[in-house]
Amino acid sequence: MNSLPDAIVAAIRDVVGPGPVNLHEPRFSGNESRYVQDCIDSTFVSSVGRYVDRFEAELAAYTGARHAVAVVNGTAALHVALLLAGVEANEEVIVPALTFVATANAVRYCGAVPHFADSDARTLGLDPDALRDRLRTIAEPAAGQGCINRLTGRRIRALVPMHTFGHPCDLDGLLAVAREFEFTLVEDAAESLGSTYHDRHTGTLGRLGTLSFNGNKTITTGGGGAILTDDTDLARRAKHLTTTAKVPHRWAYEHDAVGFNYRMPNINAALGCAQLEQLPDFLASKRRLTARYRESFAGLEQVRLMLEPPGSESNYWLQTLILDEASANQRDAILTATNDTGLMTRPAWTLMHQLPPYRDCPHAPLPVAASLERRIINVPSSAGLV
Ligand SMILES: *Cc1c(COP(=O)(O)O)cnc(C)c1O
Repeated sequence: MNSLPDAIVAAIRDVVGPGPVNLHEPRFSGNESRYVQDCIDSTFVSSVGRYVDRFEAELAAYTGARHAVAVVNGTAALHVALLLAGVEANEEVIVPALTFVATANAVRYCGAVPHFADSDARTLGLDPDALRDRLRTIAEPAAGQGCINRLTGRRIRALVPMHTFGHPCDLDGLLAVAREFEFTLVEDAAESLGSTYHDRHTGTLGRLGTLSFNGNKTITTGGGGAILTDDTDLARRAKHLTTTAKVPHRWAYEHDAVGFNYRMPNINAALGCAQLEQLPDFLASKRRLTARYRESFAGLEQVRLMLEPPGSESNYWLQTLILDEASANQRDAILTATNDTGLMTRPAWTLMHQLPPYRDCPHAPLPVAASLERRIINVPSSAGLV
């Protein structure tokens, strides 16, 4: 009988074939060179150009958001979305403990304090029931927006769910929590371009949503991100704040706020337009990969392949194995065996409340996030693998 690490190596090899395989690679098989060359030929490579407008229009059309504002990266998108949600210094913002550090960092950039909440093993995202139970014991109504955390005395202003590895979280449940406690809901949809929740694109159910087009995401602009919203005034303010808050004028340099230089350069947007054209193919390839892994891992009872939650369609950005509790102690042996043979695999992120900058932040009990963190292994997931 094979050891579990050997069996997992064999199951992955069955799907991806021989040779080194990365966790997630970008794929440039469309009009990328043409559009980027077009930018260079036009000299409009930077902060002005038609590809930015086109990318924003196409993102809005694809996601069904009324507006999309393209920015330099997903972290910048979250920063500005939180400012537009009204997050102020010394307020709290609820974020998952199980997320990429950018979610918490964006809260700190506003001078606010992240408050970490537990996960739902069915979605890998925030658990609305656990969150509601906790808030009912620690939160007091505040006059106006949000509620007051009785333990810290701070106002909790906003709720930032994240769609982990592309799987939509329980947005109906979280929207109900946001209504009960008067939070503004901002979706960190950095990982979930192409994922839908009850047929609506992730990032469009909250007041604002954000996307990332980093090199390891489902589509890439090199570096990039976007803010999604249906609110025309918020979209106008997002554009204004991310373009140095310059007041339009033929020549005068008037700026009516401390703005940011967060605009996406035209050359990145050109890459994005070409990538967006291929997104349906990328998604189809990722679903084929899921089906292949599903077959390959069917006989391994210690391992569950993460599948999209009912009612949702996942983009399957990263393919995720979840070990059963009894096999959690083999996680590092599995990471070693796979990486030793050239199969790039990665564990989940260290939970936010365990990172030095966030150790002193408030957090809910985190039994599910802690258990998932010990048992998750992400395996090669690029579009085009099968
Ligand atoms: C990728 C990512 C971001 C944004 O990342 P950038 O590299 O700044 O584009 C934010 N949140 C999560 C959960 C992510 O995975």
